Amino acid sequence: MNHKEANNKNNRRKFLQYLGVAAASCTVASCNNDEASNANTSKQQNSQQTFNWKMVTTWPKNFPGLGTGAEYLAQIIKEMSGGRLNIKVYGAGEIVPAFEIFDAVAAETAEMGHGSAYYWKGKNPALQFFSTVPFGMTANEMNAWLYHGGGMELWQRAYQPFGLVPMAAGNTMVQMGGWFNKEINSVEDLQGLKMRIPGLGGEVLRLAGGTPVNVPGGDLFVSLQKGVIDATEWVGPYNDLAFGLYKAAKYYYSPGWHEPGTTLECFVNEKAFNSLPQDLQAIVRNASRVANQNMMLEYVARNNDALVSLINEHNVDVREFPADVIEKLRELSAQVVADVVGSDPFAQEIYDSYQGFLAKSKAWHDLSERAYLNLR
Ligand code: CA
Repeated sequence: MNHKEANNKNNRRKFLQYLGVAAASCTVASCNNDEASNANTSKQQNSQQTFNWKMVTTWPKNFPGLGTGAEYLAQIIKEMSGGRLNIKVYGAGEIVPAFEIFDAVAAETAEMGHGSAYYWKGKNPALQFFSTVPFGMTANEMNAWLYHGGGMELWQRAYQPFGLVPMAAGNTMVQMGGWFNKEINSVEDLQGLKMRIPGLGGEVLRLAGGTPVNVPGGDLFVSLQKGVIDATEWVGPYNDLAFGLYKAAKYYYSPGWHEPGTTLECFVNEKAFNSLPQDLQAIVRNASRVANQNMMLEYVARNNDALVSLINEHNVDVREFPADVIEKLRELSAQVVADVVGSDPFAQEIYDSYQGFLAKSKAWHDLSERAYLNLR
């Protein structure tokens, strides 16, 4: 912006501020006879109104990537709105426990929540398709489906009965397979295993003979260290290093077959969202898109260094799941997905859209991303 533009902008702002003051100081008597002026006044007051919201999250306060992703979203909304929409972010447990944020926002205890859709599978198993599907889409594919393939419209329909407006607000990229205290050499090694693993992946582990449990991130380390659980997955090197999971388990398995590109969400109470003027609604929608991309790039950048640190400084033993274990997990994943899809026509509709998009994307990615990565 040059000086002239800056000056013009400044003058425009002063003029708008003047209008705001003039409108506010306009007495009832002097405005009453002028309907047009009245309408303008009301519009002006609306656009000047400041909103103070609460955002409850499933993450520990300021936890790298996830908690900071929620803070980043609140920060850019404040900046874009010139301070007209201020959102205070609360970590898990500050207002409500991690897994109660969905109900809290539906009940207007807070205007906004930040989590991931698979945590709400108790409401409707089909919601898990808006987080991630084992052996399903990568982050780029997921976002392409949501923004350009009809996924977002389905997600909005799925949250509508709860009075919530969902938005994608981050993605972890491909996760790691998890932390184990024994080698996984065969499917038998998964039997009897009590592992923290959420969503559809957890159901796959159940079919493989294990016991999936869901533990909020903040409780993971202690649960693993005290033997409450035998194994855990969390996210990837950046987050797993931050929790110190390497101190509680020896083997770190790749890849995260169960979470190939998990979408983080923010959802807004529908009434609160509709109470915003249109420009602030647009800011919330577009800020979530920026936050979505920003989180992905942060993971791409930070996982590299964290992996080096885990291996070189903390002597972590990084392994790959054997091919026959992966094949069995793939087979069981198809069964788990078929169960969800068979439970409800809307689940079938969501999955048809998801799977149809993935089939086309796979054909193209085999010739592009996969072909290139294989020759690099
Ligand atoms: Ca995970």
